[in-house]
Amino acid sequence: MNYHVFPGGIMAHDHVTQARSVLGRLIEPGASSYDDYLDIAAEERADQVRSRLADVFRERPMFAGLMLRLDGHQIGVSTPARVASAGGTAGDAPEFGASDRAGLPGRSQQYKVIRFGCTTIGCPGTDVRSYYDPRTVPVCTVVAAHGMLALQR
Ligand SMILES: [Zn+2]
Repeated sequence: MNYHVFPGGIMAHDHVTQARSVLGRLIEPGASSYDDYLDIAAEERADQVRSRLADVFRERPMFAGLMLRLDGHQIGVSTPARVASAGGTAGDAPEFGASDRAGLPGRSQQYKVIRFGCTTIGCPGTDVRSYYDPRTVPVCTVVAAHGMLALQR
């Protein structure tokens, strides 16, 4: 079990409560149906989650809702309408730093699927993401010991 510790010392399930608070604008109150899960990390900021949600909803226009999940705990259901309305304030937050986003595939206006491939010669390990985050690069799906996959064009 991997417990995330917040700077304030909040542990374990409290981070679920905190996530509900931080991501409140992205969550549709009372919504209980969803098409898929979106796993989030405790350290992810609201604008980062919103950006990923926007990517998925853009990729899957038939989706009406996504259940945000943190360490297996259900946070709440986000909807395209919530993501769109939160975008005006949370999206592209200035403090995020324009330089951090520059050149990152998947952050552009035009949606792209980000493909990763194993660097071990002969290994077929690949993965696909709807975003690129250098802190959570996927590892080889065939042999985990191969380590992180490399970004492909
Ligand atoms: Zn591999």
